Amino acid sequence: MTAVIFPRLALIGIGLIGGSIALASRRAGAAGHIAVSTRTPETLRRAEALALGDSFHLDPAEAVKDADCVIVSVPVGASGAVAEAIGPFLKAGAIVSDVGSVKHSVVRQMAPFIPAGVHFVPAHPVAGTEQSGPEAGFAELFDNRWCILTPPPETDREAVATLAAFWGALGANVETMSPEHHDLVLAITSHVPHLIAYNIVGTAAHLEEVTQSEVMKFSAGGFRDFTRIAASDPTMWRDVFLHNKDAVLEMLGRFNEDLTALQRAIRYGEGDKLFELFTRTRAIRRGIVAAGQETATADFGRRPGAIPGSPPATPKKGS
Ligand code: NAP
Repeated sequence: MTAVIFPRLALIGIGLIGGSIALASRRAGAAGHIAVSTRTPETLRRAEALALGDSFHLDPAEAVKDADCVIVSVPVGASGAVAEAIGPFLKAGAIVSDVGSVKHSVVRQMAPFIPAGVHFVPAHPVAGTEQSGPEAGFAELFDNRWCILTPPPETDREAVATLAAFWGALGANVETMSPEHHDLVLAITSHVPHLIAYNIVGTAAHLEEVTQSEVMKFSAGGFRDFTRIAASDPTMWRDVFLHNKDAVLEMLGRFNEDLTALQRAIRYGEGDKLFELFTRTRAIRRGIVAAGQETATADFGRRPGAIPGSPPATPKKGS
């Protein structure tokens, strides 16, 4: 057990990520009192039934009062409004952070509402599942995953080190970079792959020559693996694309060029080109396995325990 890092931790937003932070903090003993806040009574009731905190508040101002650290875990499009609501009630010297999958936009939205004397250290734990809601949280979500911190250059170093230690206690490895660089890296490693998955599942749904039942029946041919990603939360992903527009469009441009080159290779029977690319991409997958970010097991059905930190196989109720 780690020593308590934050005597009072406030979690604003208590879905997959907020819930997992609560459980991982408890597991590590990294937080004393956990104050939970969410905008709807229904989600607050579910979080309370799951004992995700010590106190439960519909009013975020109440939750952040006297908090040493506040972590905002809401869709990125809502982060500015949340910062505005909690700003006047933050304790001097507190750390305010978030978990948003996009960083530049979140910094732009939240920073104006963070008072002087409060340390704003934006963060993004690169860990998740396609589930959402408080029931989806689990303590192991961040184990051996990366958490990226994107503090503005003038941020108090001690505050950054304290938040890094907190994420370390939750099981994550921590890296620091600029919000702009974060958004570019995540555009290609996460955002564009999600867009491709949403698109291919949408295309299959529109095909008239292939029936819906055939799509389901023969999905193990590759389609199934895209459907897992394409089941991700619509609100969260709508906000990601609207708030990381430039980086996503830049990476999509490159993706389209490469796709056109592949189309051409198929049309002109350039098997060597295809073989060479597929060999390189296989090596990338092996590199990810070697880096401990995936197992070699060909199990995209995600049996429990197949990957450290993976969720139970039984689908959980989304919100
Ligand atoms: P989630 O399970 O859907 O939970 C969302 C939480 O935000 C709930 O407490 C919800 O409250 C609240 N919320 C929703 N809309 C809101 C609004 N307009 N204003 C205020 N609160 C609102 O979502 P999540 O997966 O935990 O994602 C939360 C954040 O984590 C997002 O910014 C996302 O980019 C980031 N993230 C997600 C993943 C992932 O894989 N899911 C991974 C890394 C980072 P109510 O239920 O009360 O409405």
